[in-house]
Amino acid sequence: MKKTISIIAIIFLSLNTMYSQDLQTDKFDTNEGELTINFVKHASLFFEFDGKTIHIDPVTQMGNYTNYPKADLILITHHHGDHLDLNAINLLKKENTKIILTQKCDEFSENLTDIIAMKNGDALEINQLEITAIPAYNIINKRETGEPFHPKGDGNGYIIKFGDKNVLIGGDTENIPELKALENIDIAFLPMNLPYTMTPEMVADAAKAFRPKVIYPYHYGNTDTSKLIELLKDEKDIEVRIKKM
Ligand code: ZN
Ligand code: ZN
Repeated sequence: MKKTISIIAIIFLSLNTMYSQDLQTDKFDTNEGELTINFVKHASLFFEFDGKTIHIDPVTQMGNYTNYPKADLILITHHHGDHLDLNAINLLKKENTKIILTQKCDEFSENLTDIIAMKNGDALEINQLEITAIPAYNIINKRETGEPFHPKGDGNGYIIKFGDKNVLIGGDTENIPELKALENIDIAFLPMNLPYTMTPEMVADAAKAFRPKVIYPYHYGNTDTSKLIELLKDEKDIEVRIKKM
């Protein structure tokens, strides 16, 4: 019996640490302890901070969501299938998991409970984290019908304050004025693929305007990330970090 228990314990421990082995991570110091960023794929990532796990746009086909730590908080930027996946949300949910999403997501969310819909410009505090929703939309890139891939008002970007560090999750957006006007962003995730989001030139233009200390292009598909490094090489206060996503 004892042996069975210790075997179970070993299996449990290795399962528990397994997720970290196939994920890239970065760590940042904040005035309230360490912030760990886990890069999953495309627009999916999760943060660990102050004993809590915050998942962003979890999608089952992007990662091994049965192995990742359960969510205290889940943020969904918009209702497209590469961002909103009810299966991933259900895998990550535990008691008291809160889900922040857009009003449009709400229409697709069937039986989800504990959801909070945020509009562009809304701010709230949850789990001791200040979260602000900002706009995310296309100005230039549109469907053949003339409708933007991401109409203004449908999607959110989020600014999450981890201690004294402000982290921006861009969502599917272009270099819109609301993004360029941001201040005091320490870490920024900006999408970089056509036709849905931005070119490297548009990402560089946004970065030069709001000057995040660290920028991660994400949601970049086959876009050549070296172009962004080249475009920002003279901006010594902006560090471009490329992760396989
Ligand atoms: Zn989208
Ligand atoms: Zn997308």
